[in-house]
Amino acid sequence: MDGVFPVDIGPQYEGEVIRKADLYVEFGGPNVTSKFELLTIKSPDQVENEKIEIIGPDIQEMKEGNSYPLALMINVAGERLEKDMEPVMERRMHLYGNYIEGFYHMNQRDDVWMRLNKEAFGKGLNSLKEIGKILMFLYTSELDVIEKIAITFVTDEKKVEELLPSAREVYKARDMRARGLKEEDVEEFYSCALCQSFAPTHICIVTPERIANCGAISWFDGKAAYKLDPEGPVQRIEKGECLDPVRAEYTGCNQIAAEKSMGTYTRVYLHSAFSYPHTSCGCFQAICFYIPEADAFGIINRDFPGDCVIGTSFSTMAGEASGGHQVEGYLGLALEYLRSPKFLQAEGGWKRIVWMPGVIKEMYREVCPEGLFDKIATEDDAKNTDELVEFLNRVGHPWTRGEVDLPV
Ligand code: SF4
Repeated sequence: MDGVFPVDIGPQYEGEVIRKADLYVEFGGPNVTSKFELLTIKSPDQVENEKIEIIGPDIQEMKEGNSYPLALMINVAGERLEKDMEPVMERRMHLYGNYIEGFYHMNQRDDVWMRLNKEAFGKGLNSLKEIGKILMFLYTSELDVIEKIAITFVTDEKKVEELLPSAREVYKARDMRARGLKEEDVEEFYSCALCQSFAPTHICIVTPERIANCGAISWFDGKAAYKLDPEGPVQRIEKGECLDPVRAEYTGCNQIAAEKSMGTYTRVYLHSAFSYPHTSCGCFQAICFYIPEADAFGIINRDFPGDCVIGTSFSTMAGEASGGHQVEGYLGLALEYLRSPKFLQAEGGWKRIVWMPGVIKEMYREVCPEGLFDKIATEDDAKNTDELVEFLNRVGHPWTRGEVDLPV
């Protein structure tokens, strides 16, 4: 690795957004179904150090302005590496990708979205090999626990499709590990400030019952991240005194929120969408939004096409919810949070949900409280709030019937 790259690198490029007009090519994102990034720890003999492999067309063979599938697979080895560190190092891709001049990284896992601008392409960032070299440099210089690294870029659509299910299995296994542990069982939570380049006052507070907004950092991952790099973006929070067990307000969380948001907000409710809701950066997988006509909530995920029941699209709503501000009635969240027993606890949790995309409802069928599944409307049942209210009355949604007691 010679350390000489066609474009500049450094934290000054974080937050650089690439607009459509400046786009050379993009990988993943909303126009592409097959995409993921995955970092795996291997034994030293399984990693050919500094090897970069490209399977499928490279950037020069791509058509300007187009979107392409991508599997970005990073294999690392090192004596001090621990399995728990995989998700944390994988998430560093968000940081390092955005350190590259003319390159943009958004989202995570099988939702990932990367863009390369025309200027960087013109300067010589015209091969995935160049991007791989930069990533290797950043990973090894910032994380000295990595002794060997190899990167594979797969752009062949069929091959990405073939690899995707096994990557999803890995994500699922990671998420499963954190299920069952309660906030009351631990003394510490974790904060992550990795997205402050795009949302300067945002931090994620990660607890055993609230996975980070991006879905890529669970409480266990927070613990591993802090161990890996105690001066890094993930910090330990002494949870302190619980001021409100229903909304989940802790003195330790308030303190870190005030500090990391530079006083923009000083209180956080971890499980409420009102008063002092958890902030949203831009990497959330879904938004839980208040529907005044039903005095209840809907959920929209990033992949939902078109407008939802309140007449807005995911991207419009994301614009209102994101940026690191506390926006009452909006919660950017990871879909895994729907499995948390404390999901939206202060407002009635699942029993206050009245609309969600059919595909998400089906995915989370087993955590939907008994008798509720058929009473939550989808895009097939209600296209606007009039139809929604009519549906809820017709099926007798427990919230509409006044059968849900809010915790006090
Ligand atoms: S969404 Fe939250 S946890 Fe995920 S990288 Fe951004 S700040 Fe960190």
